[in-house]
Amino acid sequence: MTAEVSTETGDGAATNGVPTFESLDPRTGEVVDTYPVHDADHVDKAVQRARDAQQWWADLGFSGRKQRLDQWRKLLVRRLDEGAGVICAETGKPIDDARLELVLVVDHLAWAAANAEKVLKRRKVSSGLLMVNQASTVEYHPHGVVGVIGPWNYPAFTPMGSIAYALAAGNSVVFKPSELTPGVGAWLARTFEEAVPDQPVFTVVTGFGETGAALCRSGVNKLAFTGSTATGKRVMATCAETLTPVLLEAGGKDAFIVDEDADLRAAAEAAVWGAMSNAGQTCVGVERAYVVDAVADKFLDQVATMAAELRPGGEPQANLGPITMASQVEVIRRHVDDALERGARAVVGGSHSVRAPFVEPVVLTDVPPEADVNLDETFGPTIVVQRVRDVDEAIDLSNRSRFGLGATIFSRSRGADLARRIRAGMVAVNGIIAFAAVPALPFGGIGDSGFGRIHGEDGLREFTRPQAVTRAKFRMPINPMTFKRSPRTVRRLMRLVRLMHGR
Ligand code: NDP
Repeated sequence: MTAEVSTETGDGAATNGVPTFESLDPRTGEVVDTYPVHDADHVDKAVQRARDAQQWWADLGFSGRKQRLDQWRKLLVRRLDEGAGVICAETGKPIDDARLELVLVVDHLAWAAANAEKVLKRRKVSSGLLMVNQASTVEYHPHGVVGVIGPWNYPAFTPMGSIAYALAAGNSVVFKPSELTPGVGAWLARTFEEAVPDQPVFTVVTGFGETGAALCRSGVNKLAFTGSTATGKRVMATCAETLTPVLLEAGGKDAFIVDEDADLRAAAEAAVWGAMSNAGQTCVGVERAYVVDAVADKFLDQVATMAAELRPGGEPQANLGPITMASQVEVIRRHVDDALERGARAVVGGSHSVRAPFVEPVVLTDVPPEADVNLDETFGPTIVVQRVRDVDEAIDLSNRSRFGLGATIFSRSRGADLARRIRAGMVAVNGIIAFAAVPALPFGGIGDSGFGRIHGEDGLREFTRPQAVTRAKFRMPINPMTFKRSPRTVRRLMRLVRLMHGR
């Protein structure tokens, strides 16, 4: 395990007098492991060590880093079942879902390592006619140390969307995992250290929100946060104290649109997976479906049939695991009750479906627009199916949300056209959450879903600072940028500009 955690977990933490906390299996409440609550002093030291290590990491260059990140990737593949076990123990999700999460981690890591050089290396740009004597280049340098704060719902995939890309770009990383999933963070750091034992390039600090706040204040050169919108605002305010730039991947309220020519069976299957997989605890999960009137009844029937077959539980054959964060159960209950009190109809499940730590699938329809379940992130295995006049109304309702993370459209003839009208960072057409699994695509939201991008070329650039360099190749015959210029120089320049831009 990488330095920050290895010396202080378990007994070490107790004997050192460092306060500790327990990570629990949400299915049973059993203790999975014990981790230190790191204070600001510890976080500062971790960041300092990461700063020293960063120079070594940057000096390796793209190919040296790629070679080491590839070693890490191969190790992650060999140990995939072990990692899936840790994810499963701390989140309660089915083991195959945990495996799937790590498959995506590995694919993104491979892409980031393979493409960093192409995207970030120094490249020439045209200097233009007015500056024809200059050779112009742009190069993307790493920020230095990147702090990453992650959530618990996809405790490997979501933070790795920042960690893998930040490392490939030449930064070192200090990661603060959610207090619910510290073991997943520690496992990632431990495997990295096995693959790259030379320097503490990627380390983990553990604890609660205060440890995260200490990371914001520690002097990291950028802070990448994934979590709820409310915490994201606090993180941004804390980072503002030191003018630390932030990337915010926050919550969502993703819409799912079904056009009248859609493949209804495929659409229903996608909607149920999008809404119910991981027990609905997915930032880009489906929360609201808008279905064109002509096919609404059929779609609702199919969704209801499929959703009713799903069984939550802690055993390997269960379709859904528990609600990982105990307090979220009350949010789900409140959303369902509020909708029903406002006259909504439960086609599958209802209030009785909420039985902590598990929630059975709930399919609601005829939900008034002002109901909480239509406005705020429910983060449970629920879906609201709403009948609409046409796709224009569907798009209008989709875009009314204060969130703008992902969206889905099922349409045979005009999916791509409709996608462009959606106010969201990512759209899947005739598929579900596909964009998250394509490493070359940027991932991130707008509005209350945050800003900045992980994944893809934009995700690599997010963890760099562009540097522009000009080099004079020869003296210009006309030089207006000197006190020695004559009025004639400016007159000639004006003639040139009129010719170039005035016509
Ligand atoms: P939280 O916002 O509760 O926590 C996120 C992280 O921030 C945790 O590590 C948490 O630590 C830490 N934290 C809490 N308070 C502070 C603070 N004051 N300063 C710094 N860090 C702090 O989110 P959840 O873990 O509950 O995750 C679920 C949310 O994440 C959902 O809203 C979901 O939509 C969103 N999400 C967004 C994704 C995206 O890519 N846009 C992807 C996945 C999830 P601790 O846990 O110890 O309190």
